[in-house]
Amino acid sequence: MTGQDCLFCKIVAGDIPAERIYEDDQVIAFSDINPQAPFHALVIPRQHIATLNDLEDGDSDLMGRLFLAARAIADREGFGAAGYRTVVNCNRGAGQTVFHIHVHLLAGRPLDWPPG
Ligand code: AMP
Ligand code: ZN
Repeated sequence: MTGQDCLFCKIVAGDIPAERIYEDDQVIAFSDINPQAPFHALVIPRQHIATLNDLEDGDSDLMGRLFLAARAIADREGFGAAGYRTVVNCNRGAGQTVFHIHVHLLAGRPLDWPPG
């Protein structure tokens, strides 16, 4: 799938609405439409990268930015001390359904381990 056909690229462009909770020059975050916890956000790069498998060496800074944004949001929302979970699903076997890389940020309830 190219960026043109991608749901999250359309959210980045503003063509599909989303409840944006964070943005900077490289990253945006918005509420998940089907939340799996009281707080569930998706942190994504503005740039289209389909999966973890598609990352290149030059993307390391961008991936760091995604996690720093997740941490900043978790801190801002008051979950830093209690804890929160970040998840990146890679490909269908892991549950990936939208092929624009994203970090799930989940918080607000006890999160069991191992995940399903
Ligand atoms: P994944 O299954 O890891 O690919 O995660 C994709 C996530 O995107 C799921 O948690 C969906 O609920 C979420 N999602 C799908 N469409 C939208 C949308 N239009 N706005 C916000 N979240 C969405
Ligand atoms: Zn995309």
